[in-house]
Amino acid sequence: MEASEDCCVKVAVHVRPLIGDERLQGCEDCVTVVPGKPQVQIGTHSFTFDHVYGSSGSPSSAMFEECVAPLVDGLFQGYNATVLAYGQTGSGKTYTMGTGFKDGFQTGLIPQVMNTLFSKIETLKPQTEFQVHVSFIEIGSLCLDVKILKEEVRDLLDPTSVNKSEIINGHAGKVNVPGKSPIQIRETSNGVITLAGSTEVGVSTLKEMAACLEQGSLSRATGSTNMNNQSSIMVESIGGLPVPSQIGLALVTDFADTFAIKYFPIFYVYAQLSEDENFGYCRSHAIFTITLEQLHKLNPVFTGDSISNEDTSEEYLCAKLHLVDLAGSERAKRTGSDGLRFKEGVHINKGLLALGNVISALGDEKKRKEGVHVPYRDSKLTRLLQDSLGGNSKTVMIDIDMCVVTEVGNSFMLPLHLPNFFLPACISPADINAEETLNTLKYANRAR
Ligand code: ADP
Ligand code: MG
Repeated sequence: MEASEDCCVKVAVHVRPLIGDERLQGCEDCVTVVPGKPQVQIGTHSFTFDHVYGSSGSPSSAMFEECVAPLVDGLFQGYNATVLAYGQTGSGKTYTMGTGFKDGFQTGLIPQVMNTLFSKIETLKPQTEFQVHVSFIEIGSLCLDVKILKEEVRDLLDPTSVNKSEIINGHAGKVNVPGKSPIQIRETSNGVITLAGSTEVGVSTLKEMAACLEQGSLSRATGSTNMNNQSSIMVESIGGLPVPSQIGLALVTDFADTFAIKYFPIFYVYAQLSEDENFGYCRSHAIFTITLEQLHKLNPVFTGDSISNEDTSEEYLCAKLHLVDLAGSERAKRTGSDGLRFKEGVHINKGLLALGNVISALGDEKKRKEGVHVPYRDSKLTRLLQDSLGGNSKTVMIDIDMCVVTEVGNSFMLPLHLPNFFLPACISPADINAEETLNTLKYANRAR
């Protein structure tokens, strides 16, 4: 296989159409897609990417075929890979990925990945045995002033999570009693990243996998659907309840446009904020991970429909595909004396900042060859994706007779850190979003 053909970085821009709200506000389209070229123009700026998917029609099937299907093929060859939807809130990340239900579920990238995965598995059985697992987590962060105090990983498939709705001083809130120990990102001695403590669901059909996506998406959305619209909420005071700034307020996390405040160690209070009241909090990244394990008979001996057990040497492949709906990339707005004060422009999501640095380090071939340090450890997001942004793969040969497990680099092994990801950058065409759109295009441009 030509590694550079199938496993590489692709950066695409998806310009969604103007949506109802923007039309109502009388917004104008300020983004031009250059006909016949993967190029977008905004004001005097012009950017070229691998692909640009314009605002007419649904881009997702072309995007899937051109940018994501090769990563699914790679998964079957043992390559880890990552898809990262980047953009400001409202730009179409969830729609593009298909992690939401109202819009994207039918057409988004994740449903198409699932479809392709299971049809491929069908064609490869029974010579190869498959095991498929999924996990679905989100990473949120606590930000106080310009400091990031803590990042937290939340398990969206946790069957034991105890959620009770409760009215807190007249405001509907959601109390989440922390039951289990926090999820930890670990690295094994051979560089494989694992999420200790997160739920891994074994799935054998498309339907089962879709159920996981649905369950996790709902879990992510719960905070915002149950809430009253609490447009006047402040961090110092929730429904008149003072928040002691030093001891009481331990964690501020955003889960899907929802503001969560944890009174340590008792409970979380989720409260929704309206769009114009962005404190400098970090929104959360949602990560849907598919792990594919394959046990491949090297010399299958067919007897009728089944494979005889006589030849016992097998090849084991394990790879994962992370499908990430990144946190909104917009800069924090200054909130004045009411909320926590953040310096405008200074505060950007820690994970996104770290991701940008990792991606540009990976994208620089010269730096990579020189073995320049890739700053994966700067955030939980990049730490988690460490083994899946570079297309490394592991093959293990198992000789069952001899009980010998030998780890070998397979013939498809890529040089360490050769990038293997797809970044669909989502933008709104509306003039009111021009500044954030430009930021998104610059970020995506860094990745190339
Ligand atoms: P984000 O996840 O980036 O915050 P969403 O995916 O929720 O943004 O999209 C914001 C709004 O734009 C939603 O109402 C969604 O239906 C709409 N939208 C996004 N992409 C498209 C598209 N390609 N075509 C039509 N509507 C879209
Ligand atoms: Mg979203």
